[in-house]
Amino acid sequence: MGLAGLLILLLGWAVGHMLLILLLAVFGYLIWHLYNLSRLQRWIQQADLSSLPVSSGAWGAVFDGIYRLRKGSLRRRKRLNQLLKRFYKLAAALPDATVMLGEHDIIEWYNKPAQKLLGLQPSADVGQYIGNLIRHPAFRAYLDKGGGGEPIEMPSPADENIILSVHLVSYGKNRRLLTARNVSRLHQLQQMRRDFVADVSHELRTPLTVIAGYLESMKDGASELPPQWQRSVVLMEQQTRRMQSIVTDLLFLARMESGSGARIEEAEAVNVPVLLTTIVEDARSLSGANGHIITLDADRGLSIRANSEELRTLFSNLIFNAVQYSPAGGEITVRWYRGGKGARFEVVDSGPGIAAHHIPRLTERFYRIDAGRSREKGGTGLGLAIVKHVMNRYQGHLEIESEIGKGSLFRCCFPAALVAAEVVRASPGLDLKK
Ligand code: ADP
Repeated sequence: MGLAGLLILLLGWAVGHMLLILLLAVFGYLIWHLYNLSRLQRWIQQADLSSLPVSSGAWGAVFDGIYRLRKGSLRRRKRLNQLLKRFYKLAAALPDATVMLGEHDIIEWYNKPAQKLLGLQPSADVGQYIGNLIRHPAFRAYLDKGGGGEPIEMPSPADENIILSVHLVSYGKNRRLLTARNVSRLHQLQQMRRDFVADVSHELRTPLTVIAGYLESMKDGASELPPQWQRSVVLMEQQTRRMQSIVTDLLFLARMESGSGARIEEAEAVNVPVLLTTIVEDARSLSGANGHIITLDADRGLSIRANSEELRTLFSNLIFNAVQYSPAGGEITVRWYRGGKGARFEVVDSGPGIAAHHIPRLTERFYRIDAGRSREKGGTGLGLAIVKHVMNRYQGHLEIESEIGKGSLFRCCFPAALVAAEVVRASPGLDLKK
């Protein structure tokens, strides 16, 4: 470059028209650049990389550099395309319905099972708001909540005999993935299990009532029985009563699970403070000579819409457990108050407490920390399972806090929607804080 400049200067000096020669050289240089620029432009617009323009000097290096960059990016694009194709093939082959949602939950893509299970039209529903196509209230509520958490179950919009487990997860910015799995078979099996337990319990009820009746009469006249039979009759009567309690609890659980209890929407307001007063009285009788100190602290103006028998079973299970598992003279506090926008029921005892690893399993059927002690106290092992199912039915939840040696706290949280607007009047002269 420097040498070419020197030659131009010498030529200009030799012919005596330095300025003209210099101007002509600059002009030529400019034409050369423009020519290479237009070649570059044409080449960039072509998809074919092999027609790379041949040039020397600075432009040769530019062409080479851009060629390498284009080739690298082409390779990357090819790889991404292959990956994307493979991903689409994989998502399309998934047996579960899969729907990709973009901003504002607009459908971007879905696979074949989504057409079958969610009733989406082949490709015609792309660009639609998912909430307009799947209108089941449970799904709309889940969508509005933002999905996540536990999957919900609902009937398929395409065939209501199919039960779907629907899960919505976020990925990337404002993007969500909806998956729906056919769980009808699982549902059927659960239903069979529930029906079986309910049927067996139902069938056992009558023979047990007859046996219990005869055993009771025999117990009443035990003094006339041979001595070796007297204790046996008492034990048989006790065990038959226990079996009756198990059958009653199993039937109650089956009712809660199948949702065949009274309709919550139509339930009337229950005067919980009055209900609790009677249960606490029963708990004091149960405690008897053990002299537990049971305190009731209830908000008199707080009532909820519920089925009173279901509430009675729920409250008495927790209060009676506190009596049965706390040592004689132990303190038990029962509270009913407004909390977390809804209503809360709490039983705090000064009993032996529960080790942390047992707590998540306490609401399983027949789960006991000490089976011998539970049986001795007449427990069925179903009390806390019942509490959990009643709370599920009322869309509330159970919380358990406990520490070994320091006692336990069982708290039932009822949602705000159940709190009755009107105050249900308590019976006159009722002293709630005995
Ligand atoms: P059970 O009929 O055996 O009482 P539950 O389902 O009511 O059945 O309770 C399950 C187990 O949880 C009990 O066997 C007992 O070990 C434990 N448990 C329940 N309540 C308490 C409590 N207040 N304090 C300590 N342990 C408790």
